[in-house]
Amino acid sequence: MNNFAIYPGSFDPITCGHMDVIERAGRIFDKIYLAIFINLKKVPFFSINERITLMKSIFKMNPKVHVTQFSGLVVDFSKQMEVSTIIRGLRAVSDFDYEFQLALTNRKLRKQLDTVFFMTDQKYSYLSSSLVREVACLGGDIGEFVPFVVEEAIRRKLNNE
Ligand code: ADP
Repeated sequence: MNNFAIYPGSFDPITCGHMDVIERAGRIFDKIYLAIFINLKKVPFFSINERITLMKSIFKMNPKVHVTQFSGLVVDFSKQMEVSTIIRGLRAVSDFDYEFQLALTNRKLRKQLDTVFFMTDQKYSYLSSSLVREVACLGGDIGEFVPFVVEEAIRRKLNNE
């Protein structure tokens, strides 16, 4: 069995909280598929292609991280990639109920699928992509919340460049 894992999420945009989880996971797994979920029900801030470009540029020096996209069930994507571990992040107890339900549902759908949770550094425990989008749209400084390339991309998008 390989020692690979899938980290699924919206990553709209990727934040320092996600980066912290990826760094921790990288000490344990040989390969991490960052899997951007294509959610047709939501209008995203960054398109799928924009997110892929951003994330590929962030991880270009990290051979363990592979940026991918998927639609449908993460269970089906995990079968397709022949991976049986899912990575998720936990910020606070408030994340737990939903993540617990999701992990058990996924395991019900594919019994060899396990979810591994990483607790983020405390300093990112309040951080979410939606908070970043909101602060940025209202003109606040997001420099401490996201990698520099993301900060620049948000600035360009908000200025319609
Ligand atoms: P989703 O829409 O699937 O929740 P997100 O991109 O918001 O997608 O989050 C993906 C995963 O990363 C989730 O498990 C979420 O709890 C986790 N996550 C998001 N922000 C942080 C953070 N600041 N610290 C740790 N984990 C986080």
